[in-house]
Amino acid sequence: MSPIRVRVFLGILGLALLSACGGGSTFIAKNEPRLADEEKACLASGTVRATGAILTRAALGGPSACGAEQPFEMAAADNGRVRLKPAALLRCPMIPQVDRWVVNVIEPAARRSFGASLAEITVVGSYACRPINHVSGGYLSEHGRANALDVSAFTLTDGTRIRVKSGWRGDARQRAFLRAVHAGACAQFSTVLGPNYDRNHHDHFHVDLAYRGPDGLRTVCK
Ligand SMILES: [Zn+2]
Repeated sequence: MSPIRVRVFLGILGLALLSACGGGSTFIAKNEPRLADEEKACLASGTVRATGAILTRAALGGPSACGAEQPFEMAAADNGRVRLKPAALLRCPMIPQVDRWVVNVIEPAARRSFGASLAEITVVGSYACRPINHVSGGYLSEHGRANALDVSAFTLTDGTRIRVKSGWRGDARQRAFLRAVHAGACAQFSTVLGPNYDRNHHDHFHVDLAYRGPDGLRTVCK
C-alpha cells in the first residue's frame, strides 16, 4: 500500500496504526480531537496551577498519538494533605477530578469506615504509551494520553493500609470502604473499573476520562 493510500484508508476509519514508544507492541489510536480541546480548555481555565504538589512536566509523546501538551506530575491531593505515591503523570483535566475523588469520596469514606484520615494513595499506573491491557494490536489505552490513573492501596494516618487486592473481599470495614471509593469514583470519571470487571483489575481501580459516546457523556462503572 502506498503512503497516500494508507492515509486515505486511515482517514476513512479515523484510526491510525502506530508503534508504541520504544516498545515492540503496536496499537490502534482513534483520532481524538476533543481530548486535545478539553486539555486546552483546562489549561486556559487556570484550574490547575503548579504548586509544591503539582509540578509541570515537559510535553509527552511527540510524533505519536501518545502524550499530552502540558502534563502535570501530581504528587499530592487535597492541598498536599494526601500523597500520591509515586507521583502520577496526568493531563490537565484529570487533576481536578482526582482531587474531587480524594476530597469528596475517599477521605470521608476513610473517616466513616476507620475513624482515621487518609494519608497516602498507592499509584500503580498513570502515563504509559501502550495498548489496552498491554495486548499488542489493540486500541491505545487512556494511559497513553495521560488520561488514566490506577490505584492499588490507601494508607491512613494511623498506618492502616487497605489494599484493593485483599480488601475487596476482605473484612466488612475494608469492603465498605473500597466499595464507597469505587462507587464514588463513578461521579468523577467516565470510566471506573475494579475487581468486578475482570481479572486484569483484581488488584487495582482504574479511572479515566475517556470521551465516550457521541456527546461524550457515556460512562462505564464496573
Ligand atoms: Zn489503568
